Amino acid sequence: MRHVRASAGLGAAVLLLLTFAGVAVATELPLAARLELLAGAYPDAIAGASDGHLVLRDGGAALPIDDGRKKTHAQKLAAGDIEDSLSQIYPLGACDMRPPLDFDPGRIRNEALLKRLYGGSADTVARDLVAIDWFGERLRVTSRHGVAKALQAVAAELASSPKLKRYLIPSAGTFNWRTIAGARTLSVHSFGAAIDLNTGFADYWRWAGGAKGRAVQYRNRYPLEIVGVFEKHGFIWGGRWYHFDTMHFEYRPELIAIARQAGASTCR
Ligand SMILES: [Zn+2]
Repeated sequence: MRHVRASAGLGAAVLLLLTFAGVAVATELPLAARLELLAGAYPDAIAGASDGHLVLRDGGAALPIDDGRKKTHAQKLAAGDIEDSLSQIYPLGACDMRPPLDFDPGRIRNEALLKRLYGGSADTVARDLVAIDWFGERLRVTSRHGVAKALQAVAAELASSPKLKRYLIPSAGTFNWRTIAGARTLSVHSFGAAIDLNTGFADYWRWAGGAKGRAVQYRNRYPLEIVGVFEKHGFIWGGRWYHFDTMHFEYRPELIAIARQAGASTCR
């Protein structure tokens, strides 16, 4: 078995920066480098990439990285393979940005991998849920892969800015085994690895024309300071997506690591 080595992919990294509304977005980093960072983000679960497959440490079958199908963006959202899930580089930073058409970094997910990381059923996921203190609320999130610790660290850091509290509580929820509205794929809430903030400030692409098939009108009412703190602890923000969901954060440390490696800090 030949595992991908960091030096191979990262040394040959080719970076391309495109500018969207004054925001530079890195769009390229070799797949081998992305896979290395994916494995590094879940070291207890992922051994590495080998012969076109992702090798997990649970003893189960290796997962195909690329299903070989040519897919539209909608098809990637509906049935993303591992390569698809790493294909768009998340733009880091607490900057204002209107996501371009079909720029959905992190919204493409590989459900098979999520199930292997967190559990394949509500009952299995529930076994690893622990309670964290979210500004006096008790929220249940998974303890796997450092999620609970990371969210508790987010809370501790945000607590130093009392003016932000009204955006953060009441939380609209963490663990909930369910599909995404209008889709058949599971939400990351199913795995106890996502949090929704106070819904009173929420904007959502389906409410902004998307559910009726129109071009969506982007809007965000959460202070970007909150975004920077979540990103620091491995969470991506749904407000970075064309199909935006501004109250939503999910734990995707691989995408934060890829963004850092690609130089995708974006506020300039
Ligand atoms: Zn959510």
